Amino acid sequence: MSQANGRALRIVVIGAGMAGILAAIKLREAGYDNFVIYEKAARLGGTWRENTYPGIACDVPAHLYTYTFEPNPHWSHVFAPGEEIQAYFEGVAKKYKVLPSIEFNTEITRCVFENGRWQLTTATGKSDSADVVIAATGVLHYPNTPDIAGLEDFKGACFHSARWNHDVALDGKRVGVIGTGSTAIQITSALVPKVAKFELFQRTAQWVMPIENPAYSSEERAAFAADPTRIFAIRDEAKRMMTDFIANAVINADSKEMASIERACLENLENNVKDPVLREKLRPNYRAACKRLIFSPDFYDAIQRPNAELVTEGITRVEAGGVRTADGRLHELDALVLATGFRADRFIRPTLVAGRGGVTLDDVWADRPIAYLSLSVPGFPNMFLLNGPNGPVGNFSLIQIAEMQLGYVIQLLNKLRDGACREISASASATSAFDQARIEAAKGAIWSTGCKSWYLDKFGVPASWPWSYARFAEEMAAPKFEAFEQVA
Ligand code: NAP
Repeated sequence: MSQANGRALRIVVIGAGMAGILAAIKLREAGYDNFVIYEKAARLGGTWRENTYPGIACDVPAHLYTYTFEPNPHWSHVFAPGEEIQAYFEGVAKKYKVLPSIEFNTEITRCVFENGRWQLTTATGKSDSADVVIAATGVLHYPNTPDIAGLEDFKGACFHSARWNHDVALDGKRVGVIGTGSTAIQITSALVPKVAKFELFQRTAQWVMPIENPAYSSEERAAFAADPTRIFAIRDEAKRMMTDFIANAVINADSKEMASIERACLENLENNVKDPVLREKLRPNYRAACKRLIFSPDFYDAIQRPNAELVTEGITRVEAGGVRTADGRLHELDALVLATGFRADRFIRPTLVAGRGGVTLDDVWADRPIAYLSLSVPGFPNMFLLNGPNGPVGNFSLIQIAEMQLGYVIQLLNKLRDGACREISASASATSAFDQARIEAAKGAIWSTGCKSWYLDKFGVPASWPWSYARFAEEMAAPKFEAFEQVA
């Protein structure tokens, strides 16, 4: 369908990560050629560009964490390492000629809706305007720096896991890691065999699901390349496992799937941690999958090695020589890694986004970030968020989610192009009804069972999609246009 038959929309995509690259491909496919992607960094890749810590891998099976239209026979393992994923996105962007549409080193600092168009300003002072903005800015992007006294006094190397300093050689050194999220656990498995001394500072114990990560043989990969239906069979099986076993289980704390996840993690702990004292330190006191479940075949092995120590005493402060804990002990370190997670409520912010009447996203998200079906905010016409607030983040492959969202957004764009309206955004009433329903539904989800995690907003309500994967897919298949305010 050609844009020549309707209003010629100029579209700005913000961010050249997984969702931004996808947006470029899908927009062009739908006949929308007049777009640019602004990317603040010098390289594409989003989360996979930023996170380069040792051991990084995606715990969604690789053949599922792949664009559906671009299967990859070359994945080396069932769960792909981060650098392979980065290379995959670079390869796809090249193959689909996305690179010429990306303006690198161009951070958007302001997006203001004026006279029916979005006026954009970049950090370098450049301005642009667009009919439509698609925010492909990611979810876990802004590092959370812990509020620990004395961090700046530390004389060794200190960096966040998403800002890994590869100039610092850690082999044979004394390394401390603060945090026990998915990131810290992967770092532990990778670093313990290399360093002289490894100390993991745990505030909260984790549930660990023992999932192996076998390599695909060269024969298997050749077979995938010769016959992509083999890939699709693996993808479909992984999708079924993730929906039935994880995505649909976490939304029902009382489900038998949740019980079996808990059982598997418990057996892992009981069978694989020998020292009873260490075992008790590693035993969580909340429900499995309340925090993001950890998938690891070798964390327990790593933390039981003679050069590894799990530190459960609280951190009092950081000093020049290391970390001081509440028992008065100084843990002397050469390097300290902050695997302390991200500010999960940011989305497109800190970019200043002002919709109708100058109302900003900071204003409307003062309590909590909300978006109708995770992609449209009332009063912010012609702006669409990919993997925005309240989506199924954490329960499924975000690539499939973004593909569905793009399909939906394009149906909204078609309204603008075809002249049905000039401005479109979710209505306040539909958004409020959606939000009340999701808060109600979240009460039954595992995330609400009494732990602290990045899934929770400041009121302790899970921000994630609390319904099934099928319901999300059904919502995304066709917009309910009555839920949108359309201005002629
Ligand atoms: P995270 O899950 O938010 O974990 C942060 C860790 O830092 C927690 O253990 C937290 O302790 C600890 N922490 C924070 N502030 C602290 C403080 N002041 N003192 C002591 N400890 C502190 O972050 P993440 O591990 O980077 O993972 C974030 C998400 O990224 C994951 O949940 C997952 O969705 C995604 N991820 C995925 C993969 C993958 O394989 N696909 C890999 C890495 C990350 P508390 O638990 O006590 O709060």
